[in-house]
Amino acid sequence: MKAIQYRQIGAEPELVEIPVPEPGPGQILLEITAAGVCHSDAFVMSLPEEQYTFGLPLTLGHEGAGRIAALGEGVRGLDIGTSVIVYGPWGCGLCWHCSQGMENYCSRAAELNIAPPGLGAPGAIAEYMLVDSARHLVPIGDLDPVTTVPLTDAGLTPYHAIKRSLGKLRPGSTAVVIGVGGLGHVAIQLLRHLSPARVVALDTAADKLELARSVGAHEVLLSDAKAAEEVRRITGADGATLVLDLVGVQPTLDLSMAIAGVGSDVTIVGLGDGQAAAQVGFFRGAYETNVSVPYWGARNELIELVDMAHRGVLHIEVERFALDDGVEAYRRLEAGTLRGRAVIVP
Ligand code: NAD
Ligand code: ZN
Ligand code: ZN
Repeated sequence: MKAIQYRQIGAEPELVEIPVPEPGPGQILLEITAAGVCHSDAFVMSLPEEQYTFGLPLTLGHEGAGRIAALGEGVRGLDIGTSVIVYGPWGCGLCWHCSQGMENYCSRAAELNIAPPGLGAPGAIAEYMLVDSARHLVPIGDLDPVTTVPLTDAGLTPYHAIKRSLGKLRPGSTAVVIGVGGLGHVAIQLLRHLSPARVVALDTAADKLELARSVGAHEVLLSDAKAAEEVRRITGADGATLVLDLVGVQPTLDLSMAIAGVGSDVTIVGLGDGQAAAQVGFFRGAYETNVSVPYWGARNELIELVDMAHRGVLHIEVERFALDDGVEAYRRLEAGTLRGRAVIVP
C-alpha cells in the first residue's frame, strides 16, 4: 500500500510502498477514507535527532477516518464496512485518567510504550492503518469523512481547551483566538456555538482573517506589534476572559498575557518556540489569571463533536490532496498557504 512516511531527520516526508498490515488480537484494520495534516507534524519533523522520540520510519497522520476492513481476534461490537473516525491520544484504558475518557493524559502510556498513530505508532496517511482498540473508534454514520476527520484533532483540541472556560464566558465577555489555521477556524465556531462571548480572531495573514470572519468571528485583527492595544480597544479595561493561543511563539505568548483580564484563562495550545507565557508575581499580569497548556482532548469530547457535526453546526474548511500529493500538502502547511485543514484522500 502507499503511505507518507517521515524517514530521515530533517528531510521531507516521502511517498513509499509498504505492506498492508494485518490486525492482531484486539486490533482493527481500517481502509483509510481521509487523513488530516496537522501543524504538529511539522513540529515533530523540525526536531533535532536528540529530541526526536517517535521512531523512524514514521507513517504520518494522527487525524484518521476509515471504513472497518478487518477485525482481529476477539474484537466484538463492530461491523465490517462501518465508517469511523479515530480517537488519537491512545492510553491504557485502565488508569484513572483513561477511566474519565482522558486517554490524552494516560498515566501509563509512556511506561507501556503506547503512542498515538502518526506520533509513534503507524499513522493514517496511508491506504490502511491499524487501530489498537475498538474503544478508539467513533462511528460517523453518513457524515463525509473528508470534512469530519479534522474533528479528531483540529476540532477536539480546541473543544477541550474551550470547554474548560465555558463557565466564565458570560454575555459581554471576550474570547480571543490567536492563529486561524486548522484548529483556529474550528475554535471560532465552537466559541460561537457554545458561548455568548464576543469572539476576536488574530492572524498574521489577511486571508486567514477573512476565513475567521466567514466562520463567525465578530472582530478580526492583524497579529502584530499593535495587536494588544487593538484588542484592549475592543475589550476596554476588562480585557479578554479567554485567550486561546494556537501559535505559541514568544510574541503571541506576550500578547496573550497583555490582553488577559482579571480572572481570565490564558490557554496555550500552539507548539511554537516561545519560552514562557508569564512571569508570575503580585505586580505582574492581571489578578487571578490562569495559564494552562492542554494537550488534545477526551474520548467523550470527540463523541460530542460528532454530535455537533450531525446537527450541522460546524463548517470544516478543507483542502483535499490525493495520497500521491501528500508531500505537497506538507509543503503547503510549512508555507502557511493552506485554508483550513489539508486532508489527504487515498
Ligand atoms: P496551522 O498551520 O493550520 O495554523 C496556524 C495559523 O497560525 C496560521 O493561520 C498562521 O498564519 C497563524 N500564525 C502564525 N504565526 C502567527 C502569529 N505570530 N500570530 C497569529 N497567527 C499566526 O496550524 P494548526 O494545525 O491549526 O496548529 C496550530 C498549533 O497548535 C500548532 O503549533 C500545532 O502544533 C499545535 N497543536 C497543539 C495541539 C495540542 O494538543 N496542544 C494539538 C494540535 C495542534
Ligand atoms: Zn495535531
Ligand atoms: Zn491510562
